[in-house]
Amino acid sequence: MAHQKNAPDDRKFWDEKLETQSRAEWDTLKLKLLKSHLQHAYDNSPYYRDSFDAAGVHPAQVESLADIRRFPFIDKKVLRDRQTAVPPFGDLVAVPERDIVYISASSGSTGVPTASPFTAWDFDEWIDYEARQFWSSGLRPTDRYCHSLNFSLFVGGPCVLGAQKLGALSIHAGTVPSERLLAIAQQFQATAIWTTPSYAWYLGETAVKEGIDPKKDLGIKRIFVAGEPGGSIPETRQRIEALWGASVYDYYGLSDIFGSCAGMCEEKHGLHWAEDHILVEVLDPETGTPVAEGERGELVLTTLKKRARPMIRFRTGDIVSFTSEPCTCGRTSQRMLGTHGRLDDMLIIKGVNIFPSDVEAIARKDHDLTGEYRLIVERENHLDRLTVEIERAASDSAQDAELASRFAGHLKSITGVAAQVVVLPPETLPRATHKAKRVEDRRQNVWS
Ligand SMILES: [Zn+2]
Repeated sequence: MAHQKNAPDDRKFWDEKLETQSRAEWDTLKLKLLKSHLQHAYDNSPYYRDSFDAAGVHPAQVESLADIRRFPFIDKKVLRDRQTAVPPFGDLVAVPERDIVYISASSGSTGVPTASPFTAWDFDEWIDYEARQFWSSGLRPTDRYCHSLNFSLFVGGPCVLGAQKLGALSIHAGTVPSERLLAIAQQFQATAIWTTPSYAWYLGETAVKEGIDPKKDLGIKRIFVAGEPGGSIPETRQRIEALWGASVYDYYGLSDIFGSCAGMCEEKHGLHWAEDHILVEVLDPETGTPVAEGERGELVLTTLKKRARPMIRFRTGDIVSFTSEPCTCGRTSQRMLGTHGRLDDMLIIKGVNIFPSDVEAIARKDHDLTGEYRLIVERENHLDRLTVEIERAASDSAQDAELASRFAGHLKSITGVAAQVVVLPPETLPRATHKAKRVEDRRQNVWS
């Protein structure tokens, strides 16, 4: 691994040899890592030994990356069930507990938190990757990075150590009220910050209300966002960028793997995956077969290095698309083109799939709107009805009818869904701070 602690700022890559290797070299590296990782899981985790045996597969049979498809899936429910069966960490764990030095935990959408354990080596590898990713997004030792997450069970906390390892001055602001965060950013002249897309917007608007112009009065040049699809929706990103006069980089991660495991480089065209840490599959959620590049499918991840708890074919429930085209930044890793939302967030309206992110893209593109939105789904006479509430930017209602019909037209042409559009005055819809709730599904027994 690279440890260029005092790397000069004009270096383009954190680990040039790794980041720019050919696709064939990536595949060779991944296959080597996969074989030894599967063997480690089989030898040391009672769960994987049983599940591989039950499926009639053995790590020694793996000859190509496609052979991963013979192994069984796991999901959040498996993690929860095994944790309950073998407390406190479950029997997917493949090291003695004395080797575990850190856990993060996440509850997902349904309650009981599942723990994600790390050995000291896992933790160092993760932080080195965070440094590599920050470097790819242009963060340099001359930057002042303001981290507005706490050290808690949430895996986002320690990501700040990646910025520090890179050499940036790291300001551990933690979760503080917006006014306080703005004051800290202003006092120490932070040049970079990490937040959710909703919060970046909210924080920018709060600054404006406080009489601070984020573009002039703050020196934030880079905003790293994660946790919601917004950072990959160009219209959302561009509006946050305009508000802040800064560049927005989308990051993707999940507690069950490690902090951020994909992120945008300075080209901002897709998120480069940490291919030396995760083997990525994008699959049709119904059939489990791989989808073509550019198509939407469920992201399924296999760890390649994480020793404490290997994750073999973890169904994330996130709907993404990807490309293997070389990136103009020179990095050769595959890129996720967008996180379109959670499988759980996908709405089926009269048989047509639609994601809140589709609606968001339209709402953020129209500058006569504030960009806020809410979806309400109802069922009337056995038929689904979608209502989209949007806000006009102007104070008077003169253009409401035109705004509504323009929005409905765009929605219909992009998603195929006909919706009733209601235009509200500015500041009517509830403002989201961290993870935004923008869908109200009022249908009863929708699956029956
Ligand atoms: Zn790139």
